[in-house]
Amino acid sequence: MDFCTVFDVTFDRFYRTSSIDHHDGARRIWQICNSRGDIYKKHYTGLYCIGCESFLQPRELTEGKCPHHHTEPIEYAEENYFFRLSKYAGRIMEYVSSNPDFLKPESKRTELLNFLKTMEDISISRNRSNLPWGIAVPGDPGHTMYVWFDALANYILSAGFESEPERFAGFWPGIQLCGPDNLRFQGAIWQGILASLGLPFTRKLLVHGTILGPDAQKMSKSLGNVISPMHQFKKFGADYCRFYLLGILHPYQDCSYREADLIAACNTHLANGFGNLVYRLVHLGIKKEINILDSSKIEADFKTFVDQCKTKAEKSYEAFELHDAVRIINELVAYGNKYIHTQEPWKQNLLDAEITLNNLSYLLRAASKLFMPIIPNGATRALQSIQDKEKVILYPRITENV
Ligand SMILES: [Zn+2]
Repeated sequence: MDFCTVFDVTFDRFYRTSSIDHHDGARRIWQICNSRGDIYKKHYTGLYCIGCESFLQPRELTEGKCPHHHTEPIEYAEENYFFRLSKYAGRIMEYVSSNPDFLKPESKRTELLNFLKTMEDISISRNRSNLPWGIAVPGDPGHTMYVWFDALANYILSAGFESEPERFAGFWPGIQLCGPDNLRFQGAIWQGILASLGLPFTRKLLVHGTILGPDAQKMSKSLGNVISPMHQFKKFGADYCRFYLLGILHPYQDCSYREADLIAACNTHLANGFGNLVYRLVHLGIKKEINILDSSKIEADFKTFVDQCKTKAEKSYEAFELHDAVRIINELVAYGNKYIHTQEPWKQNLLDAEITLNNLSYLLRAASKLFMPIIPNGATRALQSIQDKEKVILYPRITENV
């Protein structure tokens, strides 16, 4: 919650899987799957990784260890409930293959399809003695639900499945964000549960990359390359961190987090670029006593150019290519910077300067609105500054010795 507050992250709903409502909902989902004949009990022996909270197939191990946690899985033999995932594998494969927009990035498709090809029914419960804090299986309190079964259910329970039908209809089929190690859960197992419930598959599954340490290694305490978000917030503030994370780093590739890169990007695009141009526009508007909100003074060609950039950036947002949207907005601002240098409105007569400044005002208001999802704080202040014709230093240059 603190994290959301400091980084200006807003949400419709903050959902906890520890709530009573969630437990009731997960039990209800279990009951529906059971009523479809998709849950059965059988004796099971398997290799269980505590870190993954899941069973692993022997072929998935690297030298006998979990490839994600580098620990040896434990051998469990017990009676488990199973979900009939094999029944739905064909339909899921068909959906994944025939919907190029379903999965992002494209490179994950093969990984998912390979998993689906060998997909077996999956254990979805544990003995209560092994998992005492889990949600009890309806009608069989000696067993608790496999953690992933109830955790996955939150994608529809949080959107109002059964509890708020109208709200749910507006949300589902939804878009899911997925961690790189989580593909099989969200891309395969969860899709099987949805099919069993008679619900449409997830509309889009976005598998984000991992943010690596500055040394391009996975962050870990033992390597000493961990970067704390709160520390970065204290050092740079929310907008600079957000700009770097959302606008510069690639959303679907593993990327190193480097302060030097953050500083360079924010100084170039926000301090010297966007922030400086807003300041100069307002400064010249005041100095030359020009109304910078006069839409009758915007040139048609200039407006068309800005509108085209706007459409391109919006398309990138809609395709969840955030870094691409930001690149287009940065180019638009750079164009504005070049424009002010060639026009030299400080030398122009009043009539020409009016056109130059109103063109720029149009461009910067468009850029501010487009920047809103990335840097909401600065974008709001930029719009306010142009509206009130009040000079504001939006983005001070970051000096190297911060
Ligand atoms: Zn593991």
